[in-house]
Amino acid sequence: MRAEVVAMTGENLDMDAIKKAGDILKAGGLVAFPTETVYGLGGNALDPQASMKIYAAKGRPSDNPLIVHIAELEQLEKITTEIPEGAKSLAEKYWPGPLTMILPKADIVPRETTGGLDSVAVRFPSDRIAQELIKAGGGFVAAPSANTSGRPSPTMAEHVEEDLGDAIDMIIDGGQVGIGLESTIVDFTEEIPVVLRPGYISLEMLQETLGDVRMDKGLLITDSSVHPKAPGMKYRHYAPKADLSIIEGNEEDVVACINHLTDEAVAKGLKVGVIATDETKARYAHADVLSIGSREEEETIAHHLYEVLRDFDDDRVDVIYSEAFYTPKMGQAIMNRLLKAAGHKIINAQEENK
Ligand code: AMP
Ligand code: MG
Repeated sequence: MRAEVVAMTGENLDMDAIKKAGDILKAGGLVAFPTETVYGLGGNALDPQASMKIYAAKGRPSDNPLIVHIAELEQLEKITTEIPEGAKSLAEKYWPGPLTMILPKADIVPRETTGGLDSVAVRFPSDRIAQELIKAGGGFVAAPSANTSGRPSPTMAEHVEEDLGDAIDMIIDGGQVGIGLESTIVDFTEEIPVVLRPGYISLEMLQETLGDVRMDKGLLITDSSVHPKAPGMKYRHYAPKADLSIIEGNEEDVVACINHLTDEAVAKGLKVGVIATDETKARYAHADVLSIGSREEEETIAHHLYEVLRDFDDDRVDVIYSEAFYTPKMGQAIMNRLLKAAGHKIINAQEENK
């Protein structure tokens, strides 16, 4: 069966289609939908069978818990047993929005949804389509990113169709998403709140509200043998099919290094892709070059990252060299995804050029 695709926008909702999608969720089916971060693959979070279907459709390991999406703040207390003051303040400040909080779970949330854990991840998305669908589907929608496990997250409905078109019931096409990287995850089950996944809401923004908050150690260490606390962050993720390396250093060194590596790879008969910026894209002569945007606009870089990785999959390149993007606000989130996509292969341009 091929998923039915319906198109709408947040300003122009198709409430008949939303009702139909909500009925699919209530009956235990799966519906992919846009959020402000990436497309989600939704199922009824309180139905263990629906969660199992999500894991099966994505090919996702079932110890990797799902985020439960709500569309009314009051719903939070129904699925958690304790909400610390810090979590309440963050909800007030950043919900609806790209923030997920981990809290102790109430009994109505099945362990199938939480990957066997006693805690539950909760998010209140700001996307209008997502909110209406969640309400129509009963109020609690488990929704991981709507990609096949291991592939880059989907930022357009076409990406969802490509990965899951044959495995789910319906896809709501709301156009391109706004942010393009998954939500920031904050864990409140420890004494001091911990960031398990960086995102649009940065550590600095969290510190403003919480005071004390730290990054999960597993995120800061580039050694992939140290496991992060969020079960999902340990898997090779977001990855393109080609062999991806990140080249870091100043612009001149990076351009020279990537050109040199490209020539070596081309001489071996390999097809090379380069992830460049508007400022550098004209300087790579012998590769397929995609610009991720201007270095001056970090939100554009975040927005295009997964799309560029998927475009290189379509181009069937063998090797990808990417510039690094340690931008001021979203750099942590962008580099977290890029490093995982590259399996932590990072090359220092200055060293390599010696
Ligand atoms: P995705 O659904 O693709 O956005 O990924 C969800 C992320 O949240 C994964 O990295 C999960 O491991 C993480 N996560 C969800 N629930 C929990 C939880 N209860 N404790 C820790 N991490 C969680
Ligand atoms: Mg995901």
